[in-house]
Amino acid sequence: MKLLRAEHKRLLKALYGAEGEDYGRVLEAISLLLETSVLPHSKEFDEAAGGIAPGRRALFDQGICRLAFPSAEGTSLPFGVYAMAMELVASADAPTAMSIGIHNTVAEGVFRFGNDDQRKRVFTDLVEGRRLGAFALTEPSSGSDARAMKTTAVKNGSNYTLDGSKMFITNAGDADIYLVFAASAKGHSAFIVDKSTPGLSVGKDIPKLGMRGSRTAEVRFSDCSVPAGNLVGKEGEAFEYVKFLLSGSRIVMGSICVGIALTAYRKALEYSKQRSLFNGELSELQMTREKIADMRTELSSSRLLCAYASRLKDAGVDFSSEAAQAKVAATESAVRVCDRAIQLFGGYGYTDPDVHRHWRDARLLTIGEGASEVLRMLIAGKELAETR
Ligand SMILES: Cc1cc2nc3c(=O)[nH]c(=O)nc-3n(C[C@H](O)[C@H](O)[C@H](O)COP(=O)(O)OP(=O)(O)OC[C@H]3O[C@@H](n4cnc5c(N)ncnc54)[C@H](O)[C@@H]3O)c2cc1C
Repeated sequence: MKLLRAEHKRLLKALYGAEGEDYGRVLEAISLLLETSVLPHSKEFDEAAGGIAPGRRALFDQGICRLAFPSAEGTSLPFGVYAMAMELVASADAPTAMSIGIHNTVAEGVFRFGNDDQRKRVFTDLVEGRRLGAFALTEPSSGSDARAMKTTAVKNGSNYTLDGSKMFITNAGDADIYLVFAASAKGHSAFIVDKSTPGLSVGKDIPKLGMRGSRTAEVRFSDCSVPAGNLVGKEGEAFEYVKFLLSGSRIVMGSICVGIALTAYRKALEYSKQRSLFNGELSELQMTREKIADMRTELSSSRLLCAYASRLKDAGVDFSSEAAQAKVAATESAVRVCDRAIQLFGGYGYTDPDVHRHWRDARLLTIGEGASEVLRMLIAGKELAETR
């Protein structure tokens, strides 16, 4: 299956004019790698936690993380090109895309809010894919209400001592670097914690409905001492960083959902041409055509919202509401698209993991990185504040 299609190239041209062709070539190279090194294994990845590691390695070596950051020459690609790259990765394999997306959120945290020393020590390794990052915000007793976190960071001379536990951490176990959020004397603060730090331990992989190829586990901190030089940005300001980082990440998670839905849609479209019933093809029936049209329309509108939020991010203006809108629209529509795909496959959709895994993968993303309810509160809050 060819992942980069005319529809992607048309959008790149519409959004970026002549440069869109150059971006298309960058995405073509990624797409070829995905078609050879990731897509053929995506069924196996659905079966084992951590199975995605070789495909993620190949994408890191190809430079996927660099797409999200300015290059050494000072040039940077539009965020929308990175988001489209993540759509392609997800259309080959969703857990691989989620793992890389979260890794890059950690890299962005260090790049944007870290100091020069942290950029040299940590960011360069993250962006080159030499070390893997994990984002540790959620706790057993606080998810959506992240400010209620119980993990503490207490200053002891030139160190901070972390105590507490982080829940559902993607890449836990494989990660080399944890970006950890904790309550300290001045408020919430962010710390870079190396995996080898005494007092850090990782629990067992948590079994999941979908996104099974990526690893998810609890990460515990017990008397875990990190140098004060690992505090990211200013003490007490971490929630400002979280808001910015999660907004960018929501565009990416939206794009990942476009990729998931696209693959489910294409499989169902193909099947509808092959399946015979009532002396004809499934695709000829009017209610099938309604499904095809609705799936296609939802996919296109989600992708456009992700592209719009990306443009706002590049323009340096507030993009938090549009990022939330893109995530709500793309994640919820992906669940609907994948559900219709199962319906079109009938009993084979319900029983074949290669059909229902897309629904299972998409289902996570109406919960993680800001549940739909939280994002609706954010969107409505901004609307009401602006119209007062
Ligand atoms: C597979 C997986 C991977 C994850 N990866 C990471 C990771 O890498 N790093 C990390 O920090 N976290 C991660 N998470 C955690 C994820 O972000 C949280 O699960 C999510 O934020 C929701 O928190 P919660 O599970 O505690 O649910 P809760 O916050 O307890 O929510 C319970 C219910 O309340 C709803 N709700 C929330 N707010 C409102 C409201 N205002 N009004 C009405 N209802 C509301 C929620 O939508 C949900 O239905 C991951 C989770 C999973 C399952």
